[in-house]
Amino acid sequence: MSVFDALGDEFEEVVFFHDPPTGLRAIVAIHSTTLGPALGGTRFYPFATEDDALRDVLRLARGMTYKAAAAGLDLGGGKAVIIGDPKRVKSEELLRAYGRFVESLGGRYITAEDVGTSREDMDVIRRETRYVTGVSAALGGSGDPSPLTAYGVHLGMLACAEEAWGEHSLEGRTVAVQGVGKVGYHLVKHLVEGGARVVVADVDVDAVATCVRDFGVDVVDTDKVHAHPCDVFAPCALGGVIRDDTLPDLKCRVVAGSANNQLERLEHGEALAAAGIVYAPDYVINAGGLITVADELLGYRDDRAKAAIAGIYRTLREIFSMSRADGVSTAEAADRFARSRIGRIGRVRLTWVPGGRGWAKYWAT
Ligand code: NAD
Repeated sequence: MSVFDALGDEFEEVVFFHDPPTGLRAIVAIHSTTLGPALGGTRFYPFATEDDALRDVLRLARGMTYKAAAAGLDLGGGKAVIIGDPKRVKSEELLRAYGRFVESLGGRYITAEDVGTSREDMDVIRRETRYVTGVSAALGGSGDPSPLTAYGVHLGMLACAEEAWGEHSLEGRTVAVQGVGKVGYHLVKHLVEGGARVVVADVDVDAVATCVRDFGVDVVDTDKVHAHPCDVFAPCALGGVIRDDTLPDLKCRVVAGSANNQLERLEHGEALAAAGIVYAPDYVINAGGLITVADELLGYRDDRAKAAIAGIYRTLREIFSMSRADGVSTAEAADRFARSRIGRIGRVRLTWVPGGRGWAKYWAT
């Protein structure tokens, strides 16, 4: 793949980093710093090819720009990948070399945990750079963001209930939760407390048993949960659950959950709208985790993070009304909402540099 073709005119910066003594091969993609430094996790994964790694980091970095913008944060979008099997090649030396690399970017990119990296890894990286979030509480971190992510998803579901039924409540509604891991478990708690009837499905029998024990919920098969007759289907496990073969099976009025990349393709957002299903765009409703780690940059405070997460409700209401007004799917409306915030708030302006050097960016005051 041609790197410059892959960047198009969208990405600000892509940096390749290689440290032979530790075997580190990393790519950081900075999609946009228009709203602030680019924050996004480090994915440590045995990509089959370097092209796959580059493709993934670019896709994920772009997604972070939209997510941070829609969440109302003063942050841009970026992402990093480390190529390799973390079980085999992860070491303190490698993570510290990576931390020095992040430091060398001078704060334009701030890292965090992602697939293949953990809080302990962030603590190691912190020894080399300030530009890392999701560290241990002892180092100023916010702890596990999952309960606050679930809090945001629950508020987002209430915005969906307003949209679907004109009611600010899920009392008496049936919610089918796919995946009761760290986020799903806490979401079920909020739902049960709010009087919803909850059914759960998870491939992990222990996770299911814990939910049944703690909340007395019903259980359905993992391969049938998306087709369960319910008011709300909440994907809280994997991405790509809304696709050609699952869409016709849905028997819900709302799709709202924490999973990333719920739509296999953007067109599936239109198909949900055409089926009369209210879809809460995933990166908007699940932003609680990002908002939580972003608060670490100010010196973490739980009450402040929670107050910011409460904004997810208002944002979704706004996106739903944009979707109605513009006649577009809620997924498309979310992208428009994010782009419009970047356009309105962005501090970066273009200026013409004399002497044939073309356009350059400057920071507006
Ligand atoms: P987790 O790994 O703790 O939980 C996921 C659960 O889904 C597990 O219990 C797993 O057994 C189950 N699962 C896997 N495959 C399944 C299947 N086919 N059917 C049913 N269940 C299945 O992860 P999590 O932290 O709870 O995150 C859940 C989702 O939310 C992920 O997509 C994640 O990317 C996203 N998310 C999480 C956070 C957060 O703060 N943790 C923030 C934003 C987005």
